[in-house]
Amino acid sequence: MHDALNKDWQQLPSLLSLTRDLALQHLQQIDALPPARAPRPPGRTLRLAEEAGAAAALRLFADEWLPCLSNSTGPRYLGFVTGGATPAAVVGDWLVSALDQNPTAGWDGDAPELERQTVAELGRWFGLGAAQQGAFVSGATLSNFVGLALAREWLGEQRGVKVSEQGLAALGPVTVLGAAPHSSIHKAASMLGLGRAAVRPVARLPGREAVDPAALERELQARAGEALIVTASAGTVNSGDFDDLPALLALRERYPFWLHVDAAFGAFAALDPRVAGRVAGLDAADSVCIDLHKWMNLPYDSALQFTRHRALQLRVFSNAAAYLGEIDEARPDFVHLTPENSRRWRALVAWFALQAYGREGHAEIVARNIDGARRLGELVEQDPTLELLAPVRLNIVCFAVRGLDDAAGVQSLLECLRDGGEAFLTPTRFDGRWGLRAAFSNWRTTVEDAERVHSALKKSML
Ligand SMILES: *Cc1c(COP(=O)(O)O)cnc(C)c1O
Repeated sequence: MHDALNKDWQQLPSLLSLTRDLALQHLQQIDALPPARAPRPPGRTLRLAEEAGAAAALRLFADEWLPCLSNSTGPRYLGFVTGGATPAAVVGDWLVSALDQNPTAGWDGDAPELERQTVAELGRWFGLGAAQQGAFVSGATLSNFVGLALAREWLGEQRGVKVSEQGLAALGPVTVLGAAPHSSIHKAASMLGLGRAAVRPVARLPGREAVDPAALERELQARAGEALIVTASAGTVNSGDFDDLPALLALRERYPFWLHVDAAFGAFAALDPRVAGRVAGLDAADSVCIDLHKWMNLPYDSALQFTRHRALQLRVFSNAAAYLGEIDEARPDFVHLTPENSRRWRALVAWFALQAYGREGHAEIVARNIDGARRLGELVEQDPTLELLAPVRLNIVCFAVRGLDDAAGVQSLLECLRDGGEAFLTPTRFDGRWGLRAAFSNWRTTVEDAERVHSALKKSML
């Protein structure tokens, strides 16, 4: 064995303690650290540690990289839709690496079974019944990809074609309809050979990002006979808007299409009685995407995909090989269900969080984040220099600075805010206007943080 490897193995106790100390020190000062930082100029070459071994690498990392990272696990990082990592999630995540299971095939241990049970339990949190079967994937993009891959197979089945065998050419063109699909739907259409141009916008309700069901019905009538997927949004990234799922389900009764619901973060509305009605009907979707590294506050690399059509999933993703054993169609191994073969045991992270805090604990995070968004929304409304671009429907505040309606102006304001060290927000365009978004999804963010973000923004505007 290489000398450094051998030494690290001998010194594992001190190595893990040093790592723990570094992580702890970072987390304990997170409130005082700037939520985000300007990246350093690119083009430097990799600096190598002066000594071999993990302890030297740790010192180099702490010195050279750690001070230059975002502190997105802190309470005033409101960019994109970013969660942090709850204590139990960190515990689970550390163990995922230490135990390094590959929960792909189930005859070397029980890791896949923990994944099955965890998926089923989380499905219940969001009102998904036993007919919705799921798996862990790396993020919502992959979850949307799986949903559309299943849709493609289903469309083939309606026409007596097996896309998984014969290829997409045997099916012909597919149209993906949606009012405000997330960018990852376009990416999935590209990866699946449907083509980005297959994603066709449907008219929205006035001032909303939600589909106009009457316009969708006209579109469905005009496209009778075409292979159609409808993607619904349960929580749009710009304004947290929701499509009317019961209305879409009623249309599905009359027109044949596959209904995919991107509920990446919006599914968590199910945990708050004030907004739970927005995801009523989710269980009836053909496929559902739910991200866990956003509002569940698990570290990155975690999302769920659900479908009521598991047999199709097996057709698309099965990975038959003698060395993997027979496929059990009633209880397929995960290697036959998602794009990955070997994969991280990410289910353990979710398992720890659900054991530690339960649905109730996570519901408290969701409610507090909604309260924070509503408070910032009030402050924006009361401030004559700011203007809400959309009502605060969930955890996102989408607003404009009066008189500032260009990309560069918004960007430089946001950089000034970032460099002030108090808050981090990201830009957007809503209804043709440039604006700012604040997305509340961190487990430590309070209503007081919303007030601090507003004050910091005012300071950056001076
Ligand atoms: C974040 C997000 C995605 C993509 O999620 P990743 O986890 O970044 O792959 C898809 N849809 C919605 C609505 C999102 O908010």
